[in-house]
Amino acid sequence: MKAHELAKKVGLSSKEVIKELKKLGVSIKTHMSDVEDDACNLFIEMLREEGNLKEQKTVKKEKSSLDDSSDGLSIPSDITVGQLATMINISVSALIKKLIEKSVFATVNQMLKPELAVEVAIELGYDSNLIRIADGKDVIASTKIKTKGAFSRAPIVTVMGHVDHGKTCLLDAIRNADIAGGEKGSITQHIGAYKVNINKRDVVFIDTPGHEAFTSMRARGAHVTDIIVLVVAADDGIMPQTIEAINHAKAANVPIVVAINKIDKSDADVERVKQQLSEQDLTPEEWGGKTVCVEVSAIKKQGLDNLLEMLLLETDMLELTVDTSSPAKGTVIESRIDKGKGHVATVIIQEGTLRMGDAFISGICCGKVRALINDKGKRVYEVGPSTPVEILGFSEAPEIGERFLAVESEKVAREMSLKAEKHGKRDSTADFSGLAADVKDGGIKVVSLIVKGDVRGSIEPLCDSLEVLSLEKIKVNIIHSGIGSINESDVLLASSSGAIILGFGVHAESGALDIAEKNNVSIRYYSIIYEVVDNIKKLVEALIEPEYKKVLIGKAEVRQIFKISKTTLICGSYVLEGNIKRNCVATLTREGKPVYQGKISSLRRFKNDAKEVKAELECGIGLDNCKDVQEGDIIEAHVMEKKG
Ligand code: GDP
Repeated sequence: MKAHELAKKVGLSSKEVIKELKKLGVSIKTHMSDVEDDACNLFIEMLREEGNLKEQKTVKKEKSSLDDSSDGLSIPSDITVGQLATMINISVSALIKKLIEKSVFATVNQMLKPELAVEVAIELGYDSNLIRIADGKDVIASTKIKTKGAFSRAPIVTVMGHVDHGKTCLLDAIRNADIAGGEKGSITQHIGAYKVNINKRDVVFIDTPGHEAFTSMRARGAHVTDIIVLVVAADDGIMPQTIEAINHAKAANVPIVVAINKIDKSDADVERVKQQLSEQDLTPEEWGGKTVCVEVSAIKKQGLDNLLEMLLLETDMLELTVDTSSPAKGTVIESRIDKGKGHVATVIIQEGTLRMGDAFISGICCGKVRALINDKGKRVYEVGPSTPVEILGFSEAPEIGERFLAVESEKVAREMSLKAEKHGKRDSTADFSGLAADVKDGGIKVVSLIVKGDVRGSIEPLCDSLEVLSLEKIKVNIIHSGIGSINESDVLLASSSGAIILGFGVHAESGALDIAEKNNVSIRYYSIIYEVVDNIKKLVEALIEPEYKKVLIGKAEVRQIFKISKTTLICGSYVLEGNIKRNCVATLTREGKPVYQGKISSLRRFKNDAKEVKAELECGIGLDNCKDVQEGDIIEAHVMEKKG
């Protein structure tokens, strides 16, 4: 039996099962690992002994037990959330979650309208024929049920992968699967994300596949995605963007579930994909690794249930919990102007509850919620965590990836947005000064550049002239070049690789400027090739570390020693040859052997300070921090000169 099947059987989460099994000395890796029969039996026995066995009762079973009872389920006119949960035998948090889906935000002791209680019970699987609202005589024993402060929330999933591997088809197929299963209304609106209900649990999918949305959100510090579905076409295998997606997921520390797509095709080669995944450190579970791989066909709608189930299992491992009572916080995932509605944005609420009339701020935009529209196109009064919702009431269009925050009043929102605006107007084009090149092994410095230009014809010669600026120990490395304005992905690349961005006849997009500022990425604009080359040449030259040599400029003999203070000695000296200069490097030798090396910190002729004393003259020389001088010692004065 697989660990997750065992978990289902005993009514625990996979994570709990793995933990408990460990205590029994049974070590398994993931929820997909096999648990031997003996271990299963031992485990079940142990739970039974401890009285902790809640063998999974399906709703169907419940229904049949209700069928036995002639009365069915009788819901009184005054019933609390906690009481209803007990009656229909589900956990309070699951019931509250169900209510949240219906935009009702209730606590355990809150009264529910009996009609609503009936509606929820039916949606949770009870036969409508067996449920009725009681005539008021029914009394339900009040039961005390503990609820945690935190609720579990639905996972937010982003689909990534190489172009044409079927990301869009897969998202469509899952969306349509929900239409087939749900009576509550289908997902009609494309608001940038949608929520599907599987086995009475929700999963939220970000509807824009690909890396850009994901990276731009990450660059703004927003962590929206809980799980990444990596789509790999079975006929094509791992391609460059697949690797890019893997890298993004790893950098963000987001778990990956692999969907091996297009298995209906005659040239599909699932084994090859698994092999390639192993090479990317994503060894499939069936090969002894940890990566969950599901074979699907988005077109033929095969394997979708399995994929969704695996996502739920992965969710269990993540233990996503959230507080619904705090002010709403979320992230903007779409933003547009609608002729009739004005500025509209889709926000995924990640924490707290957002209600109609709430004041909010998002970057430099502020506003008040005028309307909330869900992915089914329905207006709702309030929304809880892990819910995508279209919000009307923005003062202007917010940026994608911007944080969204409900605040106490419109006044506070306006003040905060003014502050944000001021902050954003600072000059974001940093200077080259202080720029450090990356020092690689062997002491070679690398200046990384990203070059963006307006026409291909100008970029190529520009890149060529920049690359030839490389010197023996300083390498000019163009890590990316392309046509078009400087966008967010250029800035992200620059930020992660310490590169400078050069815009030749092009400018940066405003979103890119924001990220550049936050990440201290240097962007430079040019319109003449000569200027770019000259500038980078200067930069490279500035990085050359000059080599120095020591040049002897004079010698003096110590003839008398004066003790000025406890620690300071002055050497009354006679300059034998060359000249002695203040601040130059000094070596003190005794009988030809060096006894001190330091600096000439003071130089005097009679009572006056001198910069320089020539040969055959007497002077007083102070040696920095030198405590051992004897008459007859020789002071050699040196300067450091650049070689060559
Ligand atoms: P995206 O670029 O990753 O979003 O890929 P699309 O979803 O646009 O799909 C690219 C192409 O692959 C389309 O022509 C789809 O019809 C095709 N495709 C997607 N999924 C499947 C599948 O499961 N089987 C087959 N045979 N073709 C598929």
